[in-house]
Amino acid sequence: MSDVQPLVRARNVQKSYGDNEVLKGIDLDVFPGEVVVILGPSGSGKSTFLRCINHLEDMNAGSIMVGDDQIGYELKRGILHRLSARKIAHQRQKIGMVFQQFNLYPHMTVLQNIIEAPIGVHKFARQDALKHARELLATVGLSDKADAWPRHLSGGQQQRVAIARALAIKPALMLFDEPTSALDPELVGEVLATMRTLADQGLTMIVVTHEIGFAREAADRVVFMDGGVVVEQGSPEQVIGNPQHPRTQAFLSRFI
Ligand code: ADP
Ligand code: MG
Repeated sequence: MSDVQPLVRARNVQKSYGDNEVLKGIDLDVFPGEVVVILGPSGSGKSTFLRCINHLEDMNAGSIMVGDDQIGYELKRGILHRLSARKIAHQRQKIGMVFQQFNLYPHMTVLQNIIEAPIGVHKFARQDALKHARELLATVGLSDKADAWPRHLSGGQQQRVAIARALAIKPALMLFDEPTSALDPELVGEVLATMRTLADQGLTMIVVTHEIGFAREAADRVVFMDGGVVVEQGSPEQVIGNPQHPRTQAFLSRFI
């Protein structure tokens, strides 16, 4: 196993907004097929870290590799250069992201929402995109909603469409940023069940969530972040069941 390369390799990732040092040197490896759940209090930098992986923020220092790509940069004649917009789009195709706010396009049907990026941005053939979209709708349990309008769906259904939409570009890595935090409590379970299905299919996932039960059951590894650093990481049994650091203990005590 030791020769397996990580899919994600974050090293010393630092990010500030003005004087506010939000990420103070994050190191994280995520291996192919792994489900890594990031826990941590509000304001600890979890979203900022995911946004750095997906080109939504520029790091101030450090590097992130996803596969062979160095996020945002390329090496030319031994010198790191910032990527062009076209090359950034190419890197982003390997990464899908799901947000708290699902933000489906309201004027498009479910199916149109899912095929928009693959066809419009990434130039997949229309027939392939449609076939894949229908497979994804089956995966998220919404085969009967292909022609529905987003406003006619529940929040849980809309978030499952958003997951299908993120998967439509065939990403190697999926990022979830509190995907159930905007949902009514009775709709959380169906979204978590969809994420379990994806995890069981071997998708590599980084999930920021406050759903401790999901972390306990679905995570291969739990990472606890606080104050812009990784405080503690390990198996769910270790980090949730037997946290070593006082900050992890204090955070988890709220959930008992
Ligand atoms: P978390 O997701 O763990 O709640 P965030 O990554 O959203 O934390 O935020 C970490 C810190 O960065 C907070 O103090 C927040 O106010 C700040 N922050 C996040 N985004 C911005 C931004 N675009 N501009 C200025 N400050 C920001
Ligand atoms: Mg956040």
